[in-house]
Amino acid sequence: LSQIAEDQLEQQAVLKNGEAVSVQLNAGLNIKYEQRISVGIDGVGLYRTEIPFMLQSGFPSEDEQKNRYREILSFFPDKPVVLRALDIGADKQLPYMPINEENPCLGWRGIRILLDQPEIFLIQLRAMLKANLEFKNLKILLPMVTSLDEIDEARTLLLRACDEVSREIKCECVPPPLGIMLEVPSLVFMLSQLANRVDFISVGTNDLTQYLLAVDRNNTHVASLYDNLHPALLRSLNLIATQCQYYQLPVSVCGEMAGTPIGALLLIGLGFRQLSMSGRSLPRVKYLLRHLDPVMLQSFMQQVLQAETTTEIKKLSSEFMERQG
Ligand code: PEP
Ligand code: MG
Repeated sequence: LSQIAEDQLEQQAVLKNGEAVSVQLNAGLNIKYEQRISVGIDGVGLYRTEIPFMLQSGFPSEDEQKNRYREILSFFPDKPVVLRALDIGADKQLPYMPINEENPCLGWRGIRILLDQPEIFLIQLRAMLKANLEFKNLKILLPMVTSLDEIDEARTLLLRACDEVSREIKCECVPPPLGIMLEVPSLVFMLSQLANRVDFISVGTNDLTQYLLAVDRNNTHVASLYDNLHPALLRSLNLIATQCQYYQLPVSVCGEMAGTPIGALLLIGLGFRQLSMSGRSLPRVKYLLRHLDPVMLQSFMQQVLQAETTTEIKKLSSEFMERQG
């Protein structure tokens, strides 16, 4: 980290009027580096548990998983750490569990696999719960949820894992907060029901963009169509922010968009106050936040939400940022 970046990191994440923004880390790639920057963040908003699974030659045991999760929870003992349940399938393949499908992004992935193979899920849940016994800062996040039934089934398995751990350690294991990734467009229209079912949601703009626009996020032929600033995506995000506020459902955004200057600007403008991003995005987003005036954002956002094209949205955003210095 450069000196300037270090200085930015230590600054508080507040808007120009002093309003606080919770800035969290997307962790899992370089845990030693991530531990170093723990001072400048409000917790881990997304730890992708599939990454260590992908680097092994077979499924890690419950103990191996527990040790790894415990290490991460211990790095941030007084801050929340969101561990996302295994999100494999599609672009994230395990060498020891190959999945060959015609249409993998719409196929067997994320929570669908975990509910079909509950033994994999239960081992992971028990490992997470045991890892949490000391620090109690764990939150569990479910990937690729499409419908409410999946949440109910996952919660039943979580309670079962809790029961099993309680019996093993002979003391009560309290279930941690349970949240879901909002990354499948169906859930944008289910927020009132979600509010009764989950403790928090985390918006995955990477997949939400892919599924809303029907554009493969990793296919170079259609890369120019994969667009985080598409008016339809911004309008969906607006609906999410408004409804979450109405139902008092805690929401954060953990897709890559939250770590880019224009993305963070628009998300704050839409009313999101929790952003999770990679370590390298933190200094510049913190710098940007301290220069944003929420009052000035209001009329700008009205224009953005009426814009008809991405080009228009980009132009409005650059002009706004220039005016804000
Ligand atoms: C997302 O989809 O926005 C997300 C954060 O998850 P991933 O990139 O791991 O699919
Ligand atoms: Mg995703």
